[in-house]
Amino acid sequence: MPRAAAIRLAGLFLALAGCWAAMTQQQAPPPLEIEKVAEDLYNISGSGGNVAVYVTGEGVILVDDKFPQNVDEILSKVKSVSDRPVRYILNTHQHPDHTGGNEKLLATAEIFAHENARRNMVDKKQPGLPRVTFSDELQLHLGGKEVRAKYLGRGHTNGDAVIYFPALKVVHTGDLFVRGAPFIDYSSGGSAIEWTKTIDEILKMDFSTVIPGHGQISRKEDLVAFRKSFETMRTRMSELRASGKTAEEAGKLLRVDDLGWKPGPLFDRSLPGLYNEVR
Ligand SMILES: [Zn+2]
Repeated sequence: MPRAAAIRLAGLFLALAGCWAAMTQQQAPPPLEIEKVAEDLYNISGSGGNVAVYVTGEGVILVDDKFPQNVDEILSKVKSVSDRPVRYILNTHQHPDHTGGNEKLLATAEIFAHENARRNMVDKKQPGLPRVTFSDELQLHLGGKEVRAKYLGRGHTNGDAVIYFPALKVVHTGDLFVRGAPFIDYSSGGSAIEWTKTIDEILKMDFSTVIPGHGQISRKEDLVAFRKSFETMRTRMSELRASGKTAEEAGKLLRVDDLGWKPGPLFDRSLPGLYNEVR
């Protein structure tokens, strides 16, 4: 083969290899990471909602379980901090990035959720229905440790559970608190008016560390700041509506970048419902 042709062929091969690498990198899900939050409590981040891992001598309690494709990696992360099996899973709400692992994990673990979260899963024909529901509060005791799931009112959906680790003064808020723009899921009974009241109920609890539904481990002050931003956003929408703007105009004019929020498609989806609600 002439040298020039060989070089061209090698170049083509490298280009194809580059394409293939780019394609496979694109398809590979982001790797999950586990970090310590408090004694025997860890958080798995990286895809879907934050998964809390509470290690006890009698087994592991999880809060949420991301997407179906994350289950094996979640279990291997759990293995890196405990040789015990996952016994219980608490779902903070029904969205598939928090309950996607349910279907697989139901074979070996018991799953709990608020009654409205389970009803939403039934309505939306989601797989992996929790076998046990609660209305106001659920207390789990395992290996001498306690976890509570509390229903404190509507917000992100109508079935948001706040998970409390009393010995550690840590809460997992689900998507009632995220590090970014909120999603008010009106199709699942969410409410912007009730949301801040629900946060006020959370703030009455005795805790200092917060695992948000998405984003980095936070402090109680961060939840206070999120509540303030949320209220500012809601007041602005209310003023836009009162000034005679249509829903579409108000959605375009509503400013949130100064609150540190980058509005995405889920925030945008919340806007018509928000406009209706603040009348
Ligand atoms: Zn959600």
